[in-house]
Amino acid sequence: MVLQQAFHSDPARWLAREQPDEPVFFFDPRRLHAAAREFIDGFPGEVTYAVKANPDPSVIEGLVAAGMQAFDVASPDEMALVRSVAPKARLHYHNPVRSRAEIAAARAFGITSWSVDRMAELDKLGPIEGVEIAVRLKLPVAGAVYDFGSKFGASPDAAEALLRAVAARGGLPSMTFHPGTQCRSGAAWAAYIRACGEIAARAGVTLHRLNVGGGFPAFREAPAPDLPALFETIRHAADEAFDGTPPALVCEPGRAMVAEAFELGLQVKARDGDAIFLNDGIYGGLSEWRDLGPSTRITALATDGTPLRGEIRATAVFGPTCDSLDRLSDRVDLPCDLAEGDFLLFQACGAYSTALVTRFNGYGVRRIVTLMR
Ligand SMILES: *Cc1c(COP(=O)(O)O)cnc(C)c1O
Repeated sequence: MVLQQAFHSDPARWLAREQPDEPVFFFDPRRLHAAAREFIDGFPGEVTYAVKANPDPSVIEGLVAAGMQAFDVASPDEMALVRSVAPKARLHYHNPVRSRAEIAAARAFGITSWSVDRMAELDKLGPIEGVEIAVRLKLPVAGAVYDFGSKFGASPDAAEALLRAVAARGGLPSMTFHPGTQCRSGAAWAAYIRACGEIAARAGVTLHRLNVGGGFPAFREAPAPDLPALFETIRHAADEAFDGTPPALVCEPGRAMVAEAFELGLQVKARDGDAIFLNDGIYGGLSEWRDLGPSTRITALATDGTPLRGEIRATAVFGPTCDSLDRLSDRVDLPCDLAEGDFLLFQACGAYSTALVTRFNGYGVRRIVTLMR
């Protein structure tokens, strides 16, 4: 991705002026700042940022400027990236499966928290005296768009055994979980937190910290998520699960931290009846649509940047590559007067977008325009 040093105030006016044939991300640092402050001021514990959601250096810089001091990293490259921007940042290495080379690299970076979900991976870490080890739990809970427990996480019994082992080896036993991404249900967090309380009690350990993961939803379709309500649900659940003396809480949002900070501007290459072809698709900035379905937050603009007002119709939307997988959805609600050369502005495109852009078939978003409003 090439960061373009173009500053502008309004994506619609920029599109009208430049008439870009290529897809463009618009980055709004003020929205990033606002999202960071909503978490830092509202979440009842420490906020870390899950770097994989958007590793653009300008995002890391913006979060540090907003007060973010700790990051959830999954690989040595992400550690190096964060440290290049924020040399003093604390790093949580919460990818529970690691090679020995990655462990050695992570030690050199001074990781302050590790997560584990199986005994062999705890053994691999070697001596852990005085080191925070967060045991990752998985439960069959609903509420998210897709389930993170299908890959990582220990069952309640395995988590109990891991907690005992961490304590016996002199580590600082913590617990963590991930309720699944784009999770709109506070009940999912409450169920996990309750289970963590029970498991810690059975293991006979006092938790050092409880990390409630990421999963916080972005605004992809109405109604807008209510983060303060989720924070209160989490605080209340922790109070109840630990009889009024909960461990210090941590969260590690990715999606909800960055989604609003980017919009994606695409051009209509062709219209054929109720189908349109765009200049970006599932191999580019909209790869998540395959798994999450269409977002409804789209603005259709004429070539002069004014909003189109035609009757809304279910439209099939294709991306630019020469394969039939590059089909975003058969039913996106778009104005019937949307025509070749017009633009679509996709809101809330900051998460799992810039990092997943490929160059397949010679396409892919390569421009970021920074907005100064
Ligand atoms: C990906 C990930 C996150 C962030 O998840 P979101 O759904 O984007 O908030 C947090 N923690 C861990 C361990 C992850 O792997």
